[in-house]
Amino acid sequence: MSRPVRLGGIGISYDIAIAGAGPAGLAAALYLKRAGHRVTIFERFEEPKPVGSGLILQPTGLTVLADLGLLDDILALGARIDRLHGADASTGRTVLDVRYDAQRGGRFGLAVHRAALFGVLFRAARREAIAIETGVEIETVEAGERATLIQGNGAKAGPFDLVVDASGSRSKLRQSVANAGAPRSLTYGAFWASLGWRGEGFDEHALSQRYDKASVMIGVLPIGRPEPGAEKMAAFFWSLKPDDADAVRAAGIDAWKERVMRLWPQSEAFTSQIDSFDQLSLARYGHHTMKMPVARRLAVIGDAAHSTSPQLGQGANMALLDAAALSHALARTQSVEAALEAYAKARRWHVRVFQALSLAFTPFYQSDSVALPFIRDRLVATVAKIPPAPQFLASMVAGTVIDPFRRAGLTETRWDVGRNLGHDRTAS
Ligand SMILES: Cc1cc2nc3c(=O)[nH]c(=O)nc-3n(C[C@H](O)[C@H](O)[C@H](O)COP(=O)(O)OP(=O)(O)OC[C@H]3O[C@@H](n4cnc5c(N)ncnc54)[C@H](O)[C@@H]3O)c2cc1C
Repeated sequence: MSRPVRLGGIGISYDIAIAGAGPAGLAAALYLKRAGHRVTIFERFEEPKPVGSGLILQPTGLTVLADLGLLDDILALGARIDRLHGADASTGRTVLDVRYDAQRGGRFGLAVHRAALFGVLFRAARREAIAIETGVEIETVEAGERATLIQGNGAKAGPFDLVVDASGSRSKLRQSVANAGAPRSLTYGAFWASLGWRGEGFDEHALSQRYDKASVMIGVLPIGRPEPGAEKMAAFFWSLKPDDADAVRAAGIDAWKERVMRLWPQSEAFTSQIDSFDQLSLARYGHHTMKMPVARRLAVIGDAAHSTSPQLGQGANMALLDAAALSHALARTQSVEAALEAYAKARRWHVRVFQALSLAFTPFYQSDSVALPFIRDRLVATVAKIPPAPQFLASMVAGTVIDPFRRAGLTETRWDVGRNLGHDRTAS
């Protein structure tokens, strides 16, 4: 492989390896290839594919996709979300009502099927002729003057000027970083299913939830279409302790459906599509934040650097922001070392604040506590209506409590443009 080549300006062309073809890895590959670097993605799956059900792209993640020229593509598939609404299952009382428009600027979320986000990024990577080596599980990286990747079977790849670890929350590569740590398992996870959208009586522009204390959270999220021309879908989830999953399965699907129906009769439109536990995937959540997501010749981005429960819906968005920030750091520095330092600095506070918020908020919705949901339903539900609480909650959900854009070299997209697109396309 060739040595770094100086491009115009301060741009230098590096050989870069990316481990993982998830949102972080694909977005980083697009940025870095377009900046003139030689990029190879290594993905452990034989065929790159999305894992899981749906997720909400926030104004942060949407701004990154707009920066990559992919906003129209994703708007055409996703479902515009204006509001997160949650009610107590027994009383029907609203205990959560967060609206993006509590803040000016016309912001909204876009709920997508994971296959939609993956497809938009993957097709763009193909158009750019980015090299993707599949069926390659990266175990570790040996870093010296340059870096070499070591695969599970002992085979080596490289040398590279920079390795980007985008291999998700169970990353093995990050062990090369001192004090990297590992995710701490959270008590609650969830059953998730992707189902047909049968939204009569549901708000087509909202995440709707029902709670029974903090031990049960049921959710319905319209997620648009996985690919052009496909039917509209919904993500349906039921929170539970992964340790209890076997007992729930043993009691049978009908017993579980009856429990859901007792708490939220209207959700039959979705549970009636579920005949077997095979349709429900069990998601386990962990929480982990790397203090320094960099080491010699290595940048760690996305869930590999910081993972948490999806309570605040920020993970994929932070992964996209990391990719933008890393590319921006490489573009304005003279060496890989300087770029790594700039990347870590650019993301430090945004990541720390949102990881802390996620850790603080999750037990109010997913825990065995009796006191926390009591406070949530009485005190928080009332305080949340009094300014500036609605504005704060809107910026927390949008991912903008701390400015995530400037240090990543981004300017927030003008949502008056996106707003029209969102309505037109999702309505079609
Ligand atoms: C149920 C659920 C709901 C969620 N909801 C939301 C939401 O609403 N909004 C939001 O923003 N986020 C949400 N998230 C979080 C979001 O899914 C993650 O933050 C996001 O997928 C992280 O992207 P990533 O590219 O860093 O990692 P991943 O998506 O995990 O991708 C990692 C990739 O690396 C590959 N890989 C792994 N190990 C290796 C290896 N050793 N060598 C090579 N390749 C490897 C994997 O196969 C995979 O393709 C949710 C997560 C879950 C589980």
